[in-house]
Amino acid sequence: MGLKKFIINLAPTPMVKLFAKPYVAGDCIEAAIDTARNFCEDRHVCSTIDLLGEELESDEEVQDTVSVYKRLIDVLGPQDYATISLKPTQLGSHRGTEHCKNVIEGIVKRAEQHNIKVTLDMEDHSFTDMTLDIFRAIKKVHPTFGTVLQSRLFRTENDIKSLKGLDARIRICIGIYNEPKDIALQNKPEMKKKMLQQIEVLFKEGHYPEIATHDEAVINEAINIAERLNMKKDKYEVQMLMGVPRKAFQDELIQNGFLVRLYVPFAEKWKFAIAYCKRRLAANPAMATYILKNILRKSTGKC
Ligand SMILES: Cc1cc2nc3c(=O)[nH]c(=O)nc-3n(C[C@H](O)[C@H](O)[C@H](O)COP(=O)(O)OP(=O)(O)OC[C@H]3O[C@@H](n4cnc5c(N)ncnc54)[C@H](O)[C@@H]3O)c2cc1C
Repeated sequence: MGLKKFIINLAPTPMVKLFAKPYVAGDCIEAAIDTARNFCEDRHVCSTIDLLGEELESDEEVQDTVSVYKRLIDVLGPQDYATISLKPTQLGSHRGTEHCKNVIEGIVKRAEQHNIKVTLDMEDHSFTDMTLDIFRAIKKVHPTFGTVLQSRLFRTENDIKSLKGLDARIRICIGIYNEPKDIALQNKPEMKKKMLQQIEVLFKEGHYPEIATHDEAVINEAINIAERLNMKKDKYEVQMLMGVPRKAFQDELIQNGFLVRLYVPFAEKWKFAIAYCKRRLAANPAMATYILKNILRKSTGKC
């Protein structure tokens, strides 16, 4: 474990809760839906709502997670501003691919009844095969099902080839997990260069790329690629995490006719929100300074 991660892991819970605020929509379904609805009504920003929690190894916890997702879907109902994101390790991966696929498909079926799209997030490399196998199996029957690829992994080019002909919604990101150097790039500029090359291939192969990054230069370059390939604006979208300060840029994209979607996580159990925030802080320690400045600004009445 690196020093940065070690220090962040030592941070006391109240402090992490403070940092969690901009990143996490709340501790119940209603808070997540309110957040997503407000993003849409106030700024025409779409959302993908995610229940925090991963690496669940008890059937009871998995069952609870399924119930929360199904309630979320029923309360959300048919609308056009929010999709759902979920992870294999919160939905039965500990019992093998077939079991996990069946659990996830149950949620996808429920979502389909309300016309809600579902995306299968990508976790660390030990789950890539399982995630893509589940994705392919469900996508055959439920065409709007989407997944994620991580540009840092050497295997991603082959994974894109293996999805040929599926016309899929593919969120493409650099990947949040630190991966070993024998299987992944270690340098961010290289990951981003790869990401742009992969976006081009995704377009050419007929997929719908969801460009997930906060790097404005990468987004602008992705738009250039789309324009060079004569891709209309409804053939892709830009995604960012709720809480990362990119409001002006997002508003500009929306004014120019692009679809922007924010990842809106909520937690029914604080331990999951804390784990999520620690991972985000470890990936981006500068966020701590930003949040502290914001708190100080609010407490001194300056804006
Ligand atoms: C919608 C969405 C879904 C994602 N889903 C997955 C997934 O399923 N699997 C996966 O492995 N990864 C996922 N990620 C994470 C992604 O892989 C990157 O780790 C993350 O987006 C940071 O990379 P970046 O491209 O923004 O580049 P960076 O170079 O890390 O960030 C660019 C700039 O954005 C700002 N920034 C970025 N992240 C943060 C942050 N957390 N807090 C504050 N500022 C920040 C900083 O100013 C930074 O300089 C997702 C990201 C998004 C936006």
